[in-house]
Amino acid sequence: QNFEDSGLRQLLLDNIHKSGYVRPTPVQKHAIPIVTAGRDLMACAQTGSGKTAAFLLPIIHMIISDPKEAVVTTEHCEPQVVIISPTRELTLQISNEARKFAYGSIIKTAVVYGGVVSNHQIQRAMAGCHILVATPGRLLEFVNKGRITFSSLRFLVLDEADRMLDMGFMPDIERLMGHPTMVASDKRQTLMFSATFPEDIQRLAGKFLNNYLFLAV
Ligand code: AMP
Repeated sequence: QNFEDSGLRQLLLDNIHKSGYVRPTPVQKHAIPIVTAGRDLMACAQTGSGKTAAFLLPIIHMIISDPKEAVVTTEHCEPQVVIISPTRELTLQISNEARKFAYGSIIKTAVVYGGVVSNHQIQRAMAGCHILVATPGRLLEFVNKGRITFSSLRFLVLDEADRMLDMGFMPDIERLMGHPTMVASDKRQTLMFSATFPEDIQRLAGKFLNNYLFLAV
């Protein structure tokens, strides 16, 4: 099987080709049709399995197939896709891949993470962002200040959920998921990725996902 059989938009196929990817990895092969069918997904996949492209490709496909103007005011921005990941390195890696795959489309990607002065990050996000990649604490900080809201959210990804649990991020994630602007689970698509699937992660999947499909590769 190659990417041409996946039904992804030509712009994506061109950008995939430019990346040098020839065929989808197993997690990509299975996740792409699940996400484009509109389903929630809990996927157990290791780093190195190609899991980043497994969520980015179908999400970008869905956004460019049904584009909506990014809402930006001088006060706040409303990303349509929020990807939460545990570390600065991962957020940068994910946003770089998102920019690479969305190249030539209207999609703008912004990134916010902790540990550095935040003014520049939020200013860039305010310039328009369909896709926001964030670490939990910094995202919560901007959400609490009203600079980022979830009102236009269409896709939510929790990447490396088990690592976020180990790093003590679950209280922040619970606060984000329970925020007043957070759209209901049946009004958004939620994807969770985790290397392991312990009881805590099963419980979170049950709580945050809506009638989800389970994928283990
Ligand atoms: P990830 O598991 O998302 O961290 O990806 C691991 C590495 O595999 C990254 O360097 C990707 O660029 C690369 N990769 C992802 N999907 C493919 C693919 N279908 N073919 C070749 N390389 C890939």
